[in-house]
Amino acid sequence: MPESPPDALMGVEHAEPATVRRLHALLELSGLSRGQDLDAVLEAVTRSILESMGYRTVVVNLYRPAWDDFECVVVEGSEEARDALLGIVRPWSGWEWMFQDKFERCGAYFLRHELAEWEDGDIVYTPEIAISDDPDAWHPEDCLIVPLLDETGGMVGTLSVDEPANGRRPTDEELQTLVALAGHAALAISQTRATLQAERHRTALNDLLKTSSDLSPDRPLPEILGRLCGSVQRGLGFEKVAVFLRDRDADADALRVAAARGFGEQRSALDAPLSLRALQGLFDEHLGRDGCILVDRDTAAALVPSSQVRVPSRRNGRGPRAWRGHWLVLPLADEAGATDGLLWVDDPEDRLLPTPERLQLLRLFADQAASATAADRRVQALRHLAEHDPLTGVYNRRDLSRRIDVARADGDVAVLICDLDRFKAVNDDLGHDMGDRVLERFGALLREHSAPAGHAVRLGGEEFCVVLPGATGTEAFACAERLRRASRVALQELAPGVTLSVGIATTAGGGPDSARALLMAADRALYMAKRLGRDRSVPYDASMPSIPQRRRGERTEQLSAVLLLAEALDLRDGGTSSHSRTVAQYTELTGRALGLSQDRVERLRVAGALHDIGKIGVADAILRKPGPLTDAEWEDMRRHAELGAQITAHAGLDDISEWVLCHHERLDGRGYPRALGAEQIPLEARVLAVTDAYEAMTADRPYRRALGDAAARSELHRCAGTQFDPEVVAAFIGALDARDCPLSDAA
Ligand code: GH3
Ligand code: MG
Ligand code: MG
Repeated sequence: MPESPPDALMGVEHAEPATVRRLHALLELSGLSRGQDLDAVLEAVTRSILESMGYRTVVVNLYRPAWDDFECVVVEGSEEARDALLGIVRPWSGWEWMFQDKFERCGAYFLRHELAEWEDGDIVYTPEIAISDDPDAWHPEDCLIVPLLDETGGMVGTLSVDEPANGRRPTDEELQTLVALAGHAALAISQTRATLQAERHRTALNDLLKTSSDLSPDRPLPEILGRLCGSVQRGLGFEKVAVFLRDRDADADALRVAAARGFGEQRSALDAPLSLRALQGLFDEHLGRDGCILVDRDTAAALVPSSQVRVPSRRNGRGPRAWRGHWLVLPLADEAGATDGLLWVDDPEDRLLPTPERLQLLRLFADQAASATAADRRVQALRHLAEHDPLTGVYNRRDLSRRIDVARADGDVAVLICDLDRFKAVNDDLGHDMGDRVLERFGALLREHSAPAGHAVRLGGEEFCVVLPGATGTEAFACAERLRRASRVALQELAPGVTLSVGIATTAGGGPDSARALLMAADRALYMAKRLGRDRSVPYDASMPSIPQRRRGERTEQLSAVLLLAEALDLRDGGTSSHSRTVAQYTELTGRALGLSQDRVERLRVAGALHDIGKIGVADAILRKPGPLTDAEWEDMRRHAELGAQITAHAGLDDISEWVLCHHERLDGRGYPRALGAEQIPLEARVLAVTDAYEAMTADRPYRRALGDAAARSELHRCAGTQFDPEVVAAFIGALDARDCPLSDAA
């Protein structure tokens, strides 16, 4: 069989006698070939042949490229002829032999009964005509066919006539007339078809334009792509259309379906991603046509592994121009020209391979999809940049409070504040680049450990935060510890000595409620973790000291060290008691009640924590003695005020040193170590004296049981004016009353 039937008859030429020209003019005047539907065109052609040429039967067969066959669509003539012929379909192979050179005359093919070698089934209808001996008389088995050729010589159908009214075989002139008419008919058919196609393309283009103008970049990408798929489906007549996009986050090889139309129940077959690598064979340049890759089933089978087949084609035809399990894909390029996705179409409504125009239109749609995708990727990238820290890939601190609030609206939320220990030394010893690498690695760990629900943030420098929606204190602590252990292993590979400190706070169990309070609480816990020696996770506790403001000239390292010392001392002193911590809270309360500035209150709190630091130099035997002290032992014990003053002065805490020195002085001048008069004792020292005494009375000691709140208060009142400053006593007791529960119970 030839490549395609139209090509078989190219190059037939014929002359144009006068009568023919007249007919031409006639047809042209009737404006036959323009703007009418195909049925009207065919009817007009057959009618003029019937009327002007005097044949009783006129038959038109049209070529169906989707099936590579001819279908009988028009039969003018007898009832019997119509019944016998209309709707008959015959493959090209059944026609081919009729177009042999030996039958050709003036561009028509006249098969004389005596020359034609009809086989059974070739003749479906034989008119009832008397058989004559005259060689010019028409024989019932004569056959006269004219191919209907379009502008390019392609065959669009055949025109056959039968039963000439004069009973004669055709003259050359008659044949020329017939051929000319057939030429017009063919032109009319092909132009009508072209008009339909053009109409369709115009609709598709309009649709594309409309879709494009509707596609504000604010719309979500899947919606934009979905509309484009719909336009391809309607405008270009493909039943199935899908867009796959490269997964940029998880797996760069995966092409995941982003939009699809027309798959119905088969839609789930697209859920499994395609593999860019597996499809690579398709993206060969020489397979491209008009920016599309169109390959037949066999080529596709050779190039693409069967794992990539999702839904097999349904609308297949037959013959060289038909769709038969073809693959038609259009790569979507990103801005750098790399394949970022593909548009995939299947099941053409007409079962035909797309024309070049249709492919070009398809390319336009694909370009539209590619640019919408690129725009979306750009927006995503900008958003990512705006929300993330470029070095570590975790979020930046913008939006942190809002995220906590959002999580809080759904229930409890915990936060971890993480700070790398001794990180400055990494930069100093190993260089800034290594510092960056440590941060990068830590960012990756943080993302891993906060997944899936957590939100990891770089607060700045080497300080990070993780928001854990729904986490209880225990869960948050477990998460912090996992992170800390993982960091220790991973970071020490890069920079020995780098560990992690974590402060934890949660809203669960009546913890701090607002985002701000939660972050401050976690920060305080982190501060405590650092003070306790780093490389640990510390959950927030309401009794924790707040973070002292740093003073000029004050060495934080040393302040932390003395605070740590005070804590160690508490442990030594009472085993489990927390004398200095509690006094720190009392001094803070009293300072506030006295209306001192925030700064002074803060210093007073530190002083509260440190007032007994000098006891570090007092022997255990004296500190923990169950009975009364001897004079010599008292002498030793009293030295703690001076010793404490020295220690704090050494840490650069000069103001606090002064108060610590005076915290056992009395208004009546009978205190120690210097027996100062009332005006000489700093207010802060007077606060220390009251709060220290109250704490001592209300907490158990090795040598006696606690007095209880009421007894302790009355003792303060009794000694106000002699030992204690009455104003301070009043302020302190007022502050205790203002609290919901006495602190001594909590201590
Ligand atoms: P601590 O154990 O108390 O947390 O001490 P530290 O050394 O970790 O903390 P410090 O705050 O003294 O030093 C933090 C250092 O982090 C100082 C700064 O130079 C460094 N840093 C902050 N941002 C970056 C960054 O993006 N890259 C690098 N390489 N270093 C950074
Ligand atoms: Mg730091
Ligand atoms: Mg640090």
